[in-house]
Amino acid sequence: MIEITVRTRSREDMVDITSKLEEIVRKNNFENGILHIYVPHTTAGITVNENADPSVKVDIMSKLSELVPRSGNYHHLEGNADAHIKASIVGSSLTIFVEEGRLVLGTWQGVFFCEFDGPRTRRCLVKFVGSET
Ligand code: ZN
Repeated sequence: MIEITVRTRSREDMVDITSKLEEIVRKNNFENGILHIYVPHTTAGITVNENADPSVKVDIMSKLSELVPRSGNYHHLEGNADAHIKASIVGSSLTIFVEEGRLVLGTWQGVFFCEFDGPRTRRCLVKFVGSET
């Protein structure tokens, strides 16, 4: 298992970790298989989306905040119930194919670590499972 450290800069943040994942694939000579990425946090998640136009991540975060406001009729007493809900909506893991030493992503796709209760230093866990085809 490989660990990535992600430093988020604000309470809500989307950090593009695509290049960190590409570096892991390159440095470890991963050729063909699948890369699992897991976020071991309850108020952060991970997603794939457009990394060409930065306004896409702004729209994603602002719409999530509109759907799940920071204050509301929540039972969780830590004051971060919205962050827990957003983390579950986004999800905590991804699987990406690796073919001939490269991540298989669409032209405009990038992998984003999604912070909902930062800024913090976070972890992403990565595991590669190789295959013949
Ligand atoms: Zn909490």
